[in-house]
Formats: sequence, structure tokens, C-alpha cells
Amino acid sequence: MAVSMVLFTSDLRVHDHPPLRAALRATDAVVPLFVLDTGIDATGFAVPNRRAFLADCLTDLDAALRRRGGRLVVRQGEVVAEVCRVAAEAGAGEVHVSAGVTAYARRREERLRRALESAGRRLVVHDAVTTVVPPGVLTPAASDHFAVFTPYFRHWSQHRPRDVLGAPRVVRVPDGVGSADLPARRDVAGVSEGLAAGGETAGRRRMAAWLRDGIARYAGTHDDLGADATSRLSAHLHFGTVSPTELVRRARAADGAGAGAEAFVRQLAWRDFHHQVLAARPHAATADYRTRHDRWRTGPRAEADIEAWREGRTGYPLVDAAMRQLRHEGWMHNRARMVAASFLAKTLYVDWRTGARHFLDLLVDGDVADNQLNWQWVAGTGTDTRPNRVLNPLAQARRYDPDGTYVRRWLPGSAGADGGGPRPVVGLAEALDRFRQARGPARPAV
Ligand SMILES: Cc1cc2nc3c(=O)[nH]c(=O)nc-3n(C[C@H](O)[C@H](O)[C@H](O)COP(=O)(O)OP(=O)(O)OC[C@H]3O[C@@H](n4cnc5c(N)ncnc54)[C@H](O)[C@@H]3O)c2cc1C
Repeated sequence: MAVSMVLFTSDLRVHDHPPLRAALRATDAVVPLFVLDTGIDATGFAVPNRRAFLADCLTDLDAALRRRGGRLVVRQGEVVAEVCRVAAEAGAGEVHVSAGVTAYARRREERLRRALESAGRRLVVHDAVTTVVPPGVLTPAASDHFAVFTPYFRHWSQHRPRDVLGAPRVVRVPDGVGSADLPARRDVAGVSEGLAAGGETAGRRRMAAWLRDGIARYAGTHDDLGADATSRLSAHLHFGTVSPTELVRRARAADGAGAGAEAFVRQLAWRDFHHQVLAARPHAATADYRTRHDRWRTGPRAEADIEAWREGRTGYPLVDAAMRQLRHEGWMHNRARMVAASFLAKTLYVDWRTGARHFLDLLVDGDVADNQLNWQWVAGTGTDTRPNRVLNPLAQARRYDPDGTYVRRWLPGSAGADGGGPRPVVGLAEALDRFRQARGPARPAV
């Protein structure tokens, strides 16, 4: 009996899963494997909110495979060693996996390829699983990636996504391949109280509800903080419990969505955009993509400001509400993320990496490409063509939370901008001055 293997990573679904379909096509039986990667634990990336969401995803994936006659094999350890061990146990000739974009994922892929080949097995890497357009497919004339979103989006819009694949009806898994216990959400300590449920079932339900009831209004309400009218699909996209290709195709086809669908699909293109930047410039996860020669504040006063920001007591209600939403839900509205991040990087003039780390510690959708590059965008060290713009948290509140609904939701008792609460950590005029002096005269946008 010919056996192959599918290594699940950030593609925890059975619908629209090219590696799973390819493996099933090629062989009689498939080992669906997930490795609880001790290497990721060592990077500090496996934080409680994402570990809890992941546990939901694996439980749901196992159930989906069982309904098809199979099961999920879970192992814990170093990924390459575990994959090779399971491949040997099962006699698998091929291992199918989705392409990753982070430096970590690519190194892992390379090591895996070599290790499998030396044992006479083959690694098959599939594109367009975790993004709609694979990184590197769209490039401008003189570079290996797009550094500016607008021209990227023009090309991206003309690219025809691959066809969506259905879920397999039957998944035959060979006997005798042992599995560790599935991790359970209840065993994870320190999880945000309002954390959403993970798993493909929850993701598909949310996608269907969004396409039916939400998307049509998206163009007009996506920045309205009180309305909370975005899809909240980000964690599902990060863990791959929703396929971005399927989402784009269905959004475009959604009846009557029109401008809403267009605006929504554009946001999904931002996701692909950041992935292609990171794939081409893996160091952008930690180093300035475009340095502005910042000498970020350090020392006890900066530390105290950082602490106030993390805890949501900067004295600026919108920033504080945002930081509390992050802690409570492990998620934050995009507009709030922009204001909170601009406040740290520009108003407080603190290194964007400090803020990005805190977001990654809590965000259920915390993603190296999307988090680090959005932080860089906001800090002006990334791909923003107006790197020195500074968001005013009071003006942003008036514009995007005019009746204070969002602030009241997360800072109960606060009456909005002029209510009680902590004294502002810094005056906005003073902070703007400090930032402008630090950055010097605005450089031409590139
Ligand atoms: C400082 C900062 C940090 C961020 N960190 C992350 C992160 O770690 N993970 C993450 O998925 N998103 C991140 N974002 C982008 C965005 O805020 C979230 O994707 C969005 O708020 C998720 O909510 P939603 O699913 O309801 O979004 P919707 O508005 O419904 O958008 C649909 C999808 O489009 C994608 N998208 C939307 N905006 C962006 C964007 N600016 N960049 C990339 N993709 C986008 C997401 O996949 C999102 O789920 C960050 C933004 C900022 C400003």
C-alpha cells in the first residue's frame, strides 16, 4: 500500500487544502500529521491565547478527519526529527506541506527536504495555501517584491486565484502510527477571558455569516470602532482554518456585496502584500525595513511609559480602551491597533519592536508577517509612503468613535476624552515636537 504524509502547519482545515488533496490523489493512505513544535516554544511565539486557539483547531481537525474515516496524528518535538520518524514508521514516500514565508518556516522546510531526501523520501511544497497569491509570483520590473501596496494591489487584483478544492470525502490513515494526546484548551493557563473559539467549524460558520450578513456594509463601517463590524476572521486566516483563496472567491461572488466586497478583498490583499515582503526580506521581522535612523527612547521614563501603555493607563481613552480590548479578547480592532501602535512608536517614541512583542504576546491572530510589518508601517520604518504621519488619539476618537461607544465598552465608567481616569503620560504637542526633532525634516516619500 502506497502511503504519503501531510504535515499540517498554518493550514488547519480539510476544505480547500491542496497538500491533502495531492497526497490523497497520489497514494492509497495518508498520515495527517501535526507536530507540536518545541522549536516554536523556544522562540516565545507559543503564547497562551494562540496555544488555546490552536488546541481548538487540532481538536476540530481531528474530528473532521475522523468523520472521513481517518484521524489526526499529533507528535511533540523537533519538527524535522518527528516528521522523519513518522515517515519511517508509516513507510511514507512523500511528505506534502504548505509553503511558509517566515525565515523560521523556510529554514525548517529546507532542513526537512534534506533530511527526507537522505532517507529516500520526497518533500512536496504547495503554494497558494496560506496566501491567495504566492510570494514572489508578482514582482515589479527591478525587484524581487513589491515595496508599495498600491501597485501590488493593481497586479494582485488581476491575478486569477486558483480553483477552490472541496473537502475530501474519505481519508484513509494507515494503522499503527501512534499519536500523542491532542492538546486541550482547558489545559492552557493565562488565556484571555473573551478569547474566540478556534477550529475550522467555527471559522467556516463565521465566514458564512460574514458573507451573508456583514460584508455588504463593510465599506462604510470597517473603521467604525463602536460598530465592531469587521469579519473577525484574522485568527482563522492565521491558523488556516479558513482558506484565503476560498474567502476571496466567495466574497467576490457574494450577492449584492458590491463595494463592501471590494473593500474587504482589498484588506485580504494587504495580508498577501505583507507576506510577500517578509518572504523576500525575512529580516524585516526584527530589523527596520527602511531605517529612519531612530534613536528610540530608553531608560526609566520610557519604561514607565511602556508600562502605562501596556496596562491601558496612558490617559488617552482610545489608546487605553484599545489596550484593554487586546488583553480581554486577545484581539483588537484594526483602527484601534493603528492608534495604539502610533501612540507607542511615535507619540511615546518607543521602539516598535517593544510594541510588536506585546501584541504578539496577546493577539490570537498574532502573525510574524502581519504584525511586524504593520508595526513597521505605523512606525514609519516600513512600507508607508508617509512615514512621518502621526495619529492624534483625540482626533481619531472623535472621528472613529464619535459617541464614545468603543471607549465606554472597554473603559467602563469613562465618559470619553474628558472623563476621569489617569493623567496623560505626555502632552500631544510636546510629543509631536519630540518626534519631529528625532526624525528630522520629512524625507521624500518613496
Ligand atoms: C499594529 C498592527 C498590528 C497588526 N497585527 C496583526 C497580526 O498580528 N495579525 C493579523 O492578522 N493582522 C494584524 N494586523 C492587521 C489588522 O489589524 C487585522 O488583520 C484585523 O484587525 C483583523 O480583524 P478582522 O479579521 O475583523 O479584519 P477585517 O477588517 O475583516 O479584514 C479581513 C482580513 O484582512 C486581513 N487584513 C486586514 N487588514 C490588514 C492589514 N493591515 N494587514 C494585513 N492583513 C490585513 C486580515 O487577514 C483580516 O482578517 C495588525 C495591524 C496593525 C495596525
